[in-house]
Amino acid sequence: PDARPLSDLSAQELHALAQTQREAHAAQAAKGTKLDVTRGKPSSAQLDLADPMLSLPSATTDRAGTDVRNYGGLTGLTELREIFAELLWVEPEQIVAGGNSSLTMMRDVLVDLLLFGAIDSPRPWAKEDKVTFICPVPGYDRHFALLEDLGIEMVTVPMTDEGPDVDEVARIAGSDPSVKGIWIVPTYANPTGAVVSHEVASRLAGMETAAPDFKIFWDNAYAVHHLTEDEAKSADIITLASGAGHPHRAVMFASTSKITWAGAGVAFLASSVEQVAWYLEHLGKGSIGPDKINQLRHVEFFGDADGVRAHMRKHAEIIAPKFAEVDRVLTERLGGLGVATWNRPTGGYFVNLDVLPGTASRVVALAKEAGLSLTPAGASFPHGQDPDDTNIRLAPTMPPMSELTEAMETVATCVLIAAAEQLGATTKE
Ligand code: PMP
Repeated sequence: PDARPLSDLSAQELHALAQTQREAHAAQAAKGTKLDVTRGKPSSAQLDLADPMLSLPSATTDRAGTDVRNYGGLTGLTELREIFAELLWVEPEQIVAGGNSSLTMMRDVLVDLLLFGAIDSPRPWAKEDKVTFICPVPGYDRHFALLEDLGIEMVTVPMTDEGPDVDEVARIAGSDPSVKGIWIVPTYANPTGAVVSHEVASRLAGMETAAPDFKIFWDNAYAVHHLTEDEAKSADIITLASGAGHPHRAVMFASTSKITWAGAGVAFLASSVEQVAWYLEHLGKGSIGPDKINQLRHVEFFGDADGVRAHMRKHAEIIAPKFAEVDRVLTERLGGLGVATWNRPTGGYFVNLDVLPGTASRVVALAKEAGLSLTPAGASFPHGQDPDDTNIRLAPTMPPMSELTEAMETVATCVLIAAAEQLGATTKE
């Protein structure tokens, strides 16, 4: 295409461009191929990497000699907690290894906070007139859906390259006692890929909050999910917070969902020793212990923290070329045209695409007509509402490379049609 910005084109030129792109769109639709870049799932080649686990564990007892087939051990296997304590920069006694989903742990903690309050709460959160969470946007759709489901209000702050706009966060948390928490995805955020800087983490850890029991939900889902040699190290939020006099402020979550198997991994929760005890106290009413066989299988498979790091490099070998392909096609088709910006993440699972304000839902609708499923426009915002209708989350890991190329070509075509339509409507002949 023309390398001039689309906003410099005459109405006639825009019309001609839209026409060419509509032909490409119609040709793609006529092929009838079904393409999907909606969810950040590992591909089967990635899942295969963990297949040796299918014949593990080889033992039936853990290091302490406990029979893993039996009840008990609510905190999870010590040897697995040690491995992930090292990877997440916490102490083994601060971390719990649980079931297969960290999202479930997040829900458990929120429900416990509502029903019982935290150890530093004046009363259960449900007894407050209103509970509000700060939601950096764009963010993870399931975080927002969870809050919505539990009746927790959401107030948004913009994401920057270093994490949330921390001046805004400090202002909101410092002035409104209903503001009880914030979601943070510190490493390779879903969907912007941003890594929280040490400065931002320190501010979050130390800021004065109007609520005495403010919680940082530190969802480190992509802690070890690097795409390049430049491996981001997440800030040690628990130590930072406790050093600043807020020992119970941070609750960390992580899992092996995108390390071993998305449906059969192990999830982790870490916090102050006292807050971990609070969590286990309530968890213990509903569980006699986690699936220790799966935990032992993970221990045997990894061996140690370096085993996890080595395994993650195999993932990067499979998925880094997919991220490169997204960037290649978008650059080739949209570079210099002034109609879209996107990031080149160095880790995680997503590419964040921003199109001309007011065109994101049109792009998603056009893509659907051409057989390509995109995450609904607005999905990365509370209640699915992107005020600028500009943001689209792309998840390139799941489709095979040939389908990914076709999908990105289709995205580019739809972005161009929507942009030409919008600019054409306001440009004079
Ligand atoms: N947190 C984030 C930021 C995620 O992107 C995801 C998966 N898409 C999850 C949590 C889900 O974690 P789990 O599989 O451990 O429930």
